[in-house]
Amino acid sequence: ATPTALLVGTGRGAQLGLLIKGPEVLESTRKVDTIVLDKTGTVTTGQMALVDVAVADGVDPEEALRLVGGLEHASEHPIARAIAEAAQARVGTLPAPEGFANREGLGVEGTVDGHAVVAGRPALLADWGLRLPAALDAARTAAEAEGRTAIAAAWDGETRAVFVVADTPKPTSAEAIRQLKALGLRPVLLTGDNASTARAVAAQVGIDDVIAEVLPSEKAEVVKRLQAEGRVVAMVGDGVNDAPALAQADLGLAIGTGTDVAIEASDLTLVSGDLRAAGDAIRLSRKTLGTIR
Ligand code: ADP
Ligand code: MG
Repeated sequence: ATPTALLVGTGRGAQLGLLIKGPEVLESTRKVDTIVLDKTGTVTTGQMALVDVAVADGVDPEEALRLVGGLEHASEHPIARAIAEAAQARVGTLPAPEGFANREGLGVEGTVDGHAVVAGRPALLADWGLRLPAALDAARTAAEAEGRTAIAAAWDGETRAVFVVADTPKPTSAEAIRQLKALGLRPVLLTGDNASTARAVAAQVGIDDVIAEVLPSEKAEVVKRLQAEGRVVAMVGDGVNDAPALAQADLGLAIGTGTDVAIEASDLTLVSGDLRAAGDAIRLSRKTLGTIR
């Protein structure tokens, strides 16, 4: 392609709300056949809200909110913020945890008011030899079938509560996926969240392929694996944990409302965070390069 045509292309991109790092980015955009989308904050708004707390028999819901809220207050994760905020609103000042540990992509651990508390994926609780009692497991299953995330919480050696957190697809995500498919791309949903929640969200927006329960450190590996299958991969993400995958992808697209780390690791930024701009980018590069080949 001639440099002039590419420069005109990047200029057009700016009008479409696409921040393109360099003219050469349009070349890699054109060849993409697979688009991997992070779930939280990319396909969904990422604005989590606590919608339910299920407790085991004999457990005081306020006690659950105080202990787990206190623990999550020490974490920056969007799920943690939703739980801590709701807890604070319901029970007031939260106790600060001691020996707080963040288990990246799994959950949190610490001592709150003298109780050893752990909250997160059931897999994290399993590390402690803890399982969900039937009633709490039913609450988890029901929540996940609706695309919500269930956080299991245990203290004093038993799983005692399930916190249900909701996050909804952005209003434009389903339309964006339709457009990407119409352009011949295969969308894949990638998330650290559990498979049931991920599948429910994927169904809501029209994505057929789901790769779930992926640890933050493994996201780039997933992209590499798809590339090894001969796919030319675009990755769209917003979080710090997406940065290595964004860098690994043939084309990295950052959500403009996401973290600076994700934006720096990407070739292209969707300024408004509207996923439809991803399709615009593909169309723009095809048009820009189509005129000169
Ligand atoms: P995503 O890929 O959707 O951005 P993460 O990799 O950040 O998700 O987290 C994966 C899962 O780990 C979450 O869905 C949640 O179940 C659990 N998790 C992570 N951090 C926390 C936390 N602070 N409290 C509870 N659960 C957490
Ligand atoms: Mg995210």
